[in-house]
Parts: sequence; structure tokens; C-alpha cells
Amino acid sequence: MDILWAPWRMKYVRYEALKREEGCFLCRAARAEKLEEQLVLYRGRDGLVVMNKYPYNTGHLLVAPLRHVPSLEDLEEEELCKLFSLVKRCLKLLRAALNPDGFNIGVNLGRVAGAGLEDHVHVHIVPRWNGDTNFMPIIADTKVIPEALKDTYRALMKHADLLKET
Ligand SMILES: [Zn+2]
Repeated sequence: MDILWAPWRMKYVRYEALKREEGCFLCRAARAEKLEEQLVLYRGRDGLVVMNKYPYNTGHLLVAPLRHVPSLEDLEEEELCKLFSLVKRCLKLLRAALNPDGFNIGVNLGRVAGAGLEDHVHVHIVPRWNGDTNFMPIIADTKVIPEALKDTYRALMKHADLLKET
């Protein structure tokens, strides 16, 4: 994977300290009353989809089971199937809303592997566009990002039906 330059991720360092105080942000998102505030795109018995507040690219999603467990091997087969069925629906959503040229999909297990939140397993989906490694530095502005997140949230929610369990 080419490294995307993402200066707003510096906030993430401070965020680490916050997180310890406030507990698991995925479990909070699962209970949230204001979905847009928490950037929750989907919440069902089969899992949770939230936008990453510190994205590597536009439309960077996190897909998690509702259960607060640290690793894929802690999930029952059925939970695992449901989680990846939800990942599949997220790809459809992102294709419909943002028309990316490709995706990076991955799971970081353990801090050493880069997991920011290591207690609640989640799948990262990062949409990619041809030339985005050149493009991102130009549009990267830490002040623009919170608004950009809301804009992307609304663009994705227009296709929210695609996330419904079939
Ligand atoms: Zn959790």
C-alpha cells in the first residue's frame, strides 16, 4: 500500500489519551443517540459501520461486530460471516456513493500491528482512487476535515439502503 499523507492523523495522538478516559468508541457508537454526530452509517444485529474520524482517505470506514471482543478468533462462525457480509455491503455502498477505483481492506490486531483500538476488533475499508497518493496532499487541510467528514457522511447515507441486512 502506498502511504497516504494524512496530517490530521496527528490529532489521533491526542485522541489516544481521550479514548482511555471514555472507553471504547465503537461501543459508544453502538449506543449513540445521534448517529450523524458519531458518524454511524449502520447499526444492526449483525454489526456496526462507522466512518473513521481520522481517515487515510475519503470514505474510510470501520466495520465491527457489536460484541466487544479483541480478535477475529473470538467471533463465532456466524458472527464472522455476518461481519464480512456487512463488509461486502459497505463495498457496494462506497462504489455507489464515491465510485472508487479500488480498496484497501484490513484488520489490525494488536498495538504492534497498528491497532488504535485493540479491544474491539474492526475491519478497515479504505477506498482508493487512481492518483490519490498525489491528490491527498493537495486537499489535506486539518481544518477542512471535520466538514469534509460530514459531507461524506451525507453522501454515503443517500445510499444507506445498500447496508441493510438482506
Ligand atoms: Zn467496544
